[in-house]
Amino acid sequence: MPAIEAVDLCRTYSSRTGWLSPRRSHVDAVRGVSLDVGHGELFGLLGPNGAGKTTTIKMLNTLLLPTSGTARVLGYDVARDPVAVRRRIGYIFGGDRGLYDRLSAMDNLRYFAEIYHVDPREQRGRIAELLELVGLSGREKERVEGFSRGMRQRLHIARGLLHRPDVLFLDEPSIGVDPVAARDLRHTIRTLKERGTTVLLTTHYMAEADELCDRIAVIAAGTIQALGTPAELKARV
Ligand code: ADP
Ligand code: ADP
Repeated sequence: MPAIEAVDLCRTYSSRTGWLSPRRSHVDAVRGVSLDVGHGELFGLLGPNGAGKTTTIKMLNTLLLPTSGTARVLGYDVARDPVAVRRRIGYIFGGDRGLYDRLSAMDNLRYFAEIYHVDPREQRGRIAELLELVGLSGREKERVEGFSRGMRQRLHIARGLLHRPDVLFLDEPSIGVDPVAARDLRHTIRTLKERGTTVLLTTHYMAEADELCDRIAVIAAGTIQALGTPAELKARV
């Protein structure tokens, strides 16, 4: 059984065309996406803005219900058993919200460890391990307000791993991150994979997907255009 399995996922957004307008417009954001991600695989969804990457990730992580189609994460149906899915996954989205600037990196992680019900006896060790993993050991007492964008993004990743998820969803992890910090971020993502975490990431950077991912699905206009290893995809163009 794959770690993530999507069969013919579709999602339509419908919204009013204007303030008080009775007419609704429809956007077919995702149109029949099927994919499998193996345990421990680093899988990339590569596509331009508006391709349907975030919508796909949100259906897999139970934040959005599919309009049709099915998906399972670690064997649990995302629509029927969302709570079981949420317990086993981590989700980190592009953009930079949710950290407490006035708190240190350590206190941010302590705070989220409480929210995620990390066993208090395990918190210290777990947090130290994650700071090490994301390359922030030694900086944990500093306030987050002084952190660079890349450091913040690595702290987001640590936060998303506090509850030891088996599957991690990373939506546009390197958005707004400078090239050097992006390299550090790739290093962190590779380390995660080496430790056995299944990772599904989205990106619109071809080079990032090429360098990091075991397999890539190229998505455009809500449809998968090509799927394979970086070498297989290159052989086709
Ligand atoms: P990506 O992550 O690849 O940039 P998205 O999944 O965010 O793509 O968006 C896919 C399409 O769905 C786009 O055309 C976008 O404008 C549209 N869309 C996304 N979210 C909404 C929403 N909440 N309401 C209406 N349309 C949306
Ligand atoms: P390479 O991965 O190229 O063999 P290093 O392991 O020295 O080289 O790491 C390359 C870059 O990643 C360096 O800038 C280093 O500061 C940074 N780095 C090292 N460990 C981590 C980590 N766990 N998370 C993020 N960045 C890291």
